[in-house]
Formats: sequence, C-alpha cells, structure tokens
Amino acid sequence: MKRIVLLGSQGSGKSTQSKLIAEFLGVEIISSSRILREVVKRQTDIGKKIKKLMVEGSLIPDTHMINLMLEELRAPSCMNGYLLDGFPRNVVQAEALDESCGVDKVLNIEISDEVSIKRIEGRRICDNRHVFHVDFKPPQQEGICDHCQQPLHQREDDKPEAVSKRLAIYHKNTEKLLKYYDNKNKLVVFNGEHSIEEVAQDILDYLKANA
Ligand code: AMP
Repeated sequence: MKRIVLLGSQGSGKSTQSKLIAEFLGVEIISSSRILREVVKRQTDIGKKIKKLMVEGSLIPDTHMINLMLEELRAPSCMNGYLLDGFPRNVVQAEALDESCGVDKVLNIEISDEVSIKRIEGRRICDNRHVFHVDFKPPQQEGICDHCQQPLHQREDDKPEAVSKRLAIYHKNTEKLLKYYDNKNKLVVFNGEHSIEEVAQDILDYLKANA
C-alpha cells in the first residue's frame, strides 16, 4: 500500500502531514503545485499562462496537468510508490491516474470552510517556502522567517478573493472525486480539525494497521 493520494482543502495540513507519511512509507512526495512552480520558473509562454491561473486560483487544464504528473510518476524514484499531494483534483485526472500508475489508498483530511479560511488568511511564507501562521505558528521575529531570515509574505493565492474561488472549485470537484474513490473502497477520512500531532497519529496508526 504505497501509492497514496492525499486530499484536503486549503489549510487542512496536507503538506505538513505529507512529509510524515512519505517518511513513514519511504516514498517520494509528488506535489502538483511544486511541479507547476518549477514550470513557472522557466518563464516560458506556457509558464506565464500557468502562473496567471495559479495566482487567480483557477485550475490548470487537465491535459496539461495530467501530462506533467504522469511524466513525474514514470521516474525510477516512483517505482517503489508515491504520495500524491494536489493531484488528482477531479475525476478526469483520477481516471488518467488509474489508467497509468494507479492508487492504493486515498487519505482525505477533512476540515470545514470556516477552519480553512481562518488557517489560510493568517498563513505566511518566505521565498524558500517555510510556512508560518500569524496566530497558530508565529515566527520569533514578526515578518521574518526563523529558518532563513527571509521576509515573510502572503501567497498570492491565499488572498481572500483567490481563497474563496479555490474553496468553491475544491468543493465542486472534490465531492465527485470522493465518491469516485469511495465506490472503489479506497477512501479513508481523517478529522483535520484536531492538532497537527493528533492528525499525524491518526494517519500513522491507520497506515501501521494496514501495512
Ligand atoms: P495547491 O497549493 O495545491 O492549492 O495548488 C496551487 C494551484 O496550483 C491551484 O490553485 C491550481 O492553480 C494549481 N494546481 C495544483 N494542482 C492542480 C491540479 N491537480 N489540477 C489543476 N491545477 C492544479
């Protein structure tokens, strides 16, 4: 059981939990937004289009996203399994994944929209993507990263207009995606409103019991 999809709305703690899960399973984290950021950095025409979509909180077209992800999953480092973060985001992407590399389990970290918004509006990151929160995980010095001393800022797509759009898109697509995986008996749901440590423990307990 080493081909895992991690689902959860913005602020569900997906990135934090993905590191623990990947370490436990000894697999790579394949994050769709990391892959997209790498394309954006190359400043090609397609990179510029992707950046615009990401900043406004829209989804990248399926064909492009699927090609990018499947290329990554064909790497030798994924032979032993993988933890997917941010992909698939809809049923079209899930079908493409099933037809290629496959999935063993889908872990859904569930939080309400109220909690999601509260967590996201206070989120701050540095250019090296270390993450803080103005209330829940403040840096030692206001506005400065504890790890690399870079200034902290709000992600463009964490601004209120983009957050509402991302949540609306998430719900529209995810309900069908959850049903899709539930019908295949692959879905496991965790309460993401507990502390990071409690959620991590719940997930690790599940993985150990089903190793
Ligand atoms: P995330 O950090 O996972 O919320 O992703 C940030 C942004 O990257 C999203 O708002 C989309 O613009 C884009 N993105 C990430 N994953 C996908 C995906 N699977 N399909 C389409 N767009 C995606």
